[in-house]
Amino acid sequence: MSIPNLLTQTRGFKVRTSVKKFCKDCYMVRRKGRVYVYCKSNGKHKQRQG
Ligand SMILES: [Zn+2]
Repeated sequence: MSIPNLLTQTRGFKVRTSVKKFCKDCYMVRRKGRVYVYCKSNGKHKQRQG
């Protein structure tokens, strides 16, 4: 029952080819050439592009 490296590296981020905001609390952050979406109200909105 080992967790794949990919999961531990992304730390719960959904990896998508394109990210978008789901609600008004979502905000995009560009970091190291990747785009992340964080959300203040719903952790399920977190995404990572690429
Ligand atoms: Zn949101």
